[in-house]
Amino acid sequence: MSRVVIIGAGVMGLSVAAHLHELGADDVVVVDRARALGEGSSTSRATGGFRAQFATEINVRLSLLAREELRARAEMGYRPCGYLFLAREEATLDVLRAAQRVQHACGLTEARMIDAREAREINPAIDDPLVIGGAFCPTDGFITPMDVLRAYAHGVRIQFESEVTGLRTSGERVTAIETTRGLIEGDLFVNAAGAWARQFGGVPVEPVERHVLPTVATAALPDTMPMTIWADDGFHLRVRDGRVLLLAPDADPEARARQRVPCLKEIAVDRANAWSGFYEMSPDHHAIVGRSMPFVNLFLANGSSGHGVMHAPAIGRIVAEMIVGAPTSLDVSALRPSRFAEGCAIEAPALL
Ligand SMILES: Cc1cc2nc3c(=O)[nH]c(=O)nc-3n(C[C@H](O)[C@H](O)[C@H](O)COP(=O)(O)OP(=O)(O)OC[C@H]3O[C@@H](n4cnc5c(N)ncnc54)[C@H](O)[C@@H]3O)c2cc1C
Repeated sequence: MSRVVIIGAGVMGLSVAAHLHELGADDVVVVDRARALGEGSSTSRATGGFRAQFATEINVRLSLLAREELRARAEMGYRPCGYLFLAREEATLDVLRAAQRVQHACGLTEARMIDAREAREINPAIDDPLVIGGAFCPTDGFITPMDVLRAYAHGVRIQFESEVTGLRTSGERVTAIETTRGLIEGDLFVNAAGAWARQFGGVPVEPVERHVLPTVATAALPDTMPMTIWADDGFHLRVRDGRVLLLAPDADPEARARQRVPCLKEIAVDRANAWSGFYEMSPDHHAIVGRSMPFVNLFLANGSSGHGVMHAPAIGRIVAEMIVGAPTSLDVSALRPSRFAEGCAIEAPALL
């Protein structure tokens, strides 16, 4: 069997490796510059949301495929506490409605539109008179990113402390990777370098910084509270490890939390323990999956754009299937790397 060399021991690289093992590949090496599992990766910074409420068929189907594995592997920490999207504007409700039509067509029939009263029943902590309704899916919820990572790392050969500095190529093939600890030759290669993927094969992925602001330890909200998202401005919150995690893409989330969730008015935030990390953004905010454009033996598992932990069970499986030449569990041609050059980038509103 051929040797497969994977760049990046984040959730994507290790999911590919674990699924390759499952499919019988026995010569797989994962290379990472970190000193230990998770260190320096986006995976260790993720808050651990899981959802199938997306606006495009491919993302909904990736989530449904991932969910099968998450349900089968309790150690990954899947807890279906729900995702509650709230809307303050009619136009936002329209976006949620359109997304839900896509979700229902894919079989996610448990996702439903709700009115403002029902939103407050689902999450009684909210007090925002501007909310006019929203969408809720009870089978969305949470996973534990580091547990997913550890589950995939089990039995995988990982070479840490090896920065990959370049690709050795011959024509349209990669022959080896150059690392700070020497050359590693292989037959097939995978770019799973997360937010740093652009270095290998010119993948159009940009790192975009995201911040997480935790409160101090508090029992003000239960840890079964659904992920709650104001779809108009992206402010969202969840409870994890006895703290409330506050996130807002373009603003300080503290003021929003105090305005919209009264029980948090008196709860201090813990700026000393705030953290940030990078989303691996692709131009259309969808993953880039398949053979790379310039190199026929370099496969890409890139660009999940902030959904990489939840989609890793699906994308890792699919990339492994491509590598061994098996039929893929899902048609991911919509995510082909060539779509940008072909003018076929995916067009859809991002729900978050
Ligand atoms: C604040 C925040 C919250 C998030 N919340 C969620 C969430 O709720 N749900 C969700 O699904 N996703 C979430 N994400 C996104 C998620 O973290 C990423 O999509 C996912 O971790 C990407 O996995 P990856 O394996 O592609 O990248 P990474 O986990 O970053 O792994 C890439 C690896 O490649 C290595 N690497 C890079 N360059 C080199 C090199 N030159 N040589 C050697 N090694 C290299 C890095 O060291 C790293 O270990 C969040 C991200 C952030 C920042």
